[in-house]
Amino acid sequence: MSESEWTKILGWPGYRVYRSEIQEEAKTLRLWVRRKRGNRRLECSGCGQRISKVAEIYEREVRDLPWSEYRTTVVIELYRVRCPDCGIKTEKVPQLPSKARFSQRFEEAVGLACESAAVRRVARQFGLSRSTVRAIDLRYLRRWAEGRRKPALRQMGVDEIYLGKKQKFLTVVSNLETGEPLWFGRERKKETLDEFLEEQLSAFQRSAIRAACVDMHRPYRLSLEQWVPQCRLIYDKFHVMQHANEAVSEVRRAEFFRKGGAARELIKGKHWLLLTRWVHLNTHKKRQLNQLFALNRRVMKAYLMKESLDRLWNYTYEGAMLRYLQSWIDQLRWQRLKPLEKLAQMLLNHLEGILNYCRTKVPLGVVEAVNGNIKALMRRGRGYRDLDYLLLKAQRLAATKTQFVAFQKAA
Ligand SMILES: [Zn+2]
Repeated sequence: MSESEWTKILGWPGYRVYRSEIQEEAKTLRLWVRRKRGNRRLECSGCGQRISKVAEIYEREVRDLPWSEYRTTVVIELYRVRCPDCGIKTEKVPQLPSKARFSQRFEEAVGLACESAAVRRVARQFGLSRSTVRAIDLRYLRRWAEGRRKPALRQMGVDEIYLGKKQKFLTVVSNLETGEPLWFGRERKKETLDEFLEEQLSAFQRSAIRAACVDMHRPYRLSLEQWVPQCRLIYDKFHVMQHANEAVSEVRRAEFFRKGGAARELIKGKHWLLLTRWVHLNTHKKRQLNQLFALNRRVMKAYLMKESLDRLWNYTYEGAMLRYLQSWIDQLRWQRLKPLEKLAQMLLNHLEGILNYCRTKVPLGVVEAVNGNIKALMRRGRGYRDLDYLLLKAQRLAATKTQFVAFQKAA
């Protein structure tokens, strides 16, 4: 094959192949490239200005995309330039995005593969270590994040994710209109959200926020009231139903300890069934729950109350919503379901924020989708101790919608 044919297949703009070497046994291909005659524009990698003075010529090796079975290495001839501002610097080459031993398009391929597969699998596919794959993926995501426009934040979601006993909680702020997470903070205190509102946003950006979907969790409310007083708080269905599920679980636990013998056996292991909505259960699961209900009326009542609370958000007029809530609370009378009575009191204490659902239109299901995506990412890879990486990953996921985890369990 002639040099011009090698050059065409390699397809590095501005560069030509002047030497090649194939090792058939090892299945490797090495290509030596240098600038084409017309390509003399040199840029300083420090400041980006055009430079004419060359200080030195040297070579760098990077891994490029494979050619069929052949692993390809490109040896590129590079210049060190004499920049009037930065001194001696390497030239800027678009095909070499970082100091790592990979070409731009190789990193793109690895980053793209990481969008739909676990790091472990991508590492095997490309013959790289897992830490190298993560480093490439992180650079790939950072380049993507730098090059894009960030939409304004008008409706925000604030949610928390439980990370486990040691790390406790992660506060997640998301843009409800784009469905993308914007920021992660450790813990779930007022100071946590303060940090986002105070340091990440300008006064102008804060003034643009119209609504926030949050949990009925006091610290968040206090922070929002301080920093974005004009913002309308909405205690959304997702967060309220989480409390409803907790109340049902509490009833179940109490009944488990109160009853002995056969009834206890029946209650055991039904936790997830009780958290799942009736419409999402198959016939077998429905029968299991019915058996439980036949024996324990209280658990049944708690489950039915949770199911009917879900319909509160079918109403779009606040008067109707309020009436429905009132009749729901009335049904609790004489039932001796303490956890649900507590829930009812909580709903009454946060009534304005619940009714705000009727006053401000916010897209539904975004908070739980963001939450679900982050949890799915964390389950998939254990390399997310680096929160920056996790955030970029979740943002990319939201932007490309490669995978939108369907939400069923808690609502
Ligand atoms: Zn410079």
